[in-house]
Amino acid sequence: MSHFRLTNLTRQVEIGANCYLLETGNRRIVLDCGAHPKHEGAKAQPLWEHLGEKRLDAIILSHAHQDHLGSLPVLMRKYPGVPAFMTEPTRQLADVMMHNSVNVMAKRHENGEGETPSFSHKEATNCTRRFRSLPLHQRFNLAGERLGVGETADVSIQFEDAGHILGSASVLIECDGRRLVYTGDVNFDSQSLMSGARLPEQEIDTVIIETTRGAIPQPEGFTRAEEEKRFATAIREIFAQGGSVLVPVFALGKSQELLTMIYTLRQKGLLPECPVYIGGLSTKLSEIHDKLASASHRQHPGLNLLESVAPFTISGREINQFPIKPGRIYALSSGMMTEHTLSNVVAPQFLPNPAHGIFFVGYADPESPAGRLRNTKQGEMFHLSPSIPGEVLRCRVETFGFSAHSDREGLVGYLERTAPKNVVFVHGDPAAVDWFKTTMAPKIPDTQLLTALPGIALEL
Ligand SMILES: [Zn+2]
Repeated sequence: MSHFRLTNLTRQVEIGANCYLLETGNRRIVLDCGAHPKHEGAKAQPLWEHLGEKRLDAIILSHAHQDHLGSLPVLMRKYPGVPAFMTEPTRQLADVMMHNSVNVMAKRHENGEGETPSFSHKEATNCTRRFRSLPLHQRFNLAGERLGVGETADVSIQFEDAGHILGSASVLIECDGRRLVYTGDVNFDSQSLMSGARLPEQEIDTVIIETTRGAIPQPEGFTRAEEEKRFATAIREIFAQGGSVLVPVFALGKSQELLTMIYTLRQKGLLPECPVYIGGLSTKLSEIHDKLASASHRQHPGLNLLESVAPFTISGREINQFPIKPGRIYALSSGMMTEHTLSNVVAPQFLPNPAHGIFFVGYADPESPAGRLRNTKQGEMFHLSPSIPGEVLRCRVETFGFSAHSDREGLVGYLERTAPKNVVFVHGDPAAVDWFKTTMAPKIPDTQLLTALPGIALEL
């Protein structure tokens, strides 16, 4: 008899978006509810048709990135009254992220580029009223009631720190003595701001694990400290030749990691004091980081980013006429340099100028402008978008390894220590999933290694 049934509600086996239906006993839970960043409207949303007709008991949100959160208001519209559980930092960040995504969708629609927004500000607000924040390390039943020591429930949930971004959590779900861990996005290593994940390893029956970096080996001898030094050196070199640096970043997570890195590199004397610019959304999200600075499991507890680094905020309205000046760091979203975002709009001022640099610090889809730019050679034409003329690439382009996701060795280590009965690989491209299956098979030979194909239920 199986104890858990898992249906992948995403449209493909890829990094794209996250949404999974977990059934156990007679309870039904949806894990995450993302939107695919490359698509719009219904195509960006999960496979709703596989949710079936039965009632839903709970939604669990691992963290507030769009690929885990972006379709949540649509799901909550389908199931009025169903609670969504998350950590308190995620609750606060998700509120800002959902309203921001309404603004983005509405603007695209107004410009005749996008589909009708999939939800409104009013729906986003209604949704947040049903958000229930739960503390880490404590068990709750699906009504959100805390379970005392020895107290049982048909299904219990417990959040643990996933080390990916502020508020990110993996969840331990127990039913009938069977224990399942859904990692969400996880990082076992500490970053500049976030401390590494601490997940349960004892008597775990099933692990549903992300595989974002499964296709990429960590370079020989890589350490984050050395990579930070390399980053600081490259910035100083750009400044010395009279240029500025554009760092395309995700507003949530990467911006705050970068501000922390700038702070620590300055403390070490590796970076000079210089003006730093961030976007409006990054500022809003950084305020939440600062407000929760002492309350979250992270490095530099109490460090107030906006006070200590004192970045200037650039608004979307200013960016079109914003002159780039030398000796500055522009840490602007989006990380993938998507059309109409700050990093995309400002890039033509950087691309043709050999004094400047564009430095990447995280994941970029290979087809996104950022992904394409990384594969463009010096002197080649580069097109930021089909609607504007191309630029000859003359500025310095570098990529640094500051991923918010665990390297594959970290994930392998966790699976080896846990040795569960089942592992389900999700949130990775097919090559990444294949690498994990091949690598893990001899290491944990008694474990079933599974791929969750879209719309197909796995009995676990
Ligand atoms: Zn994430």
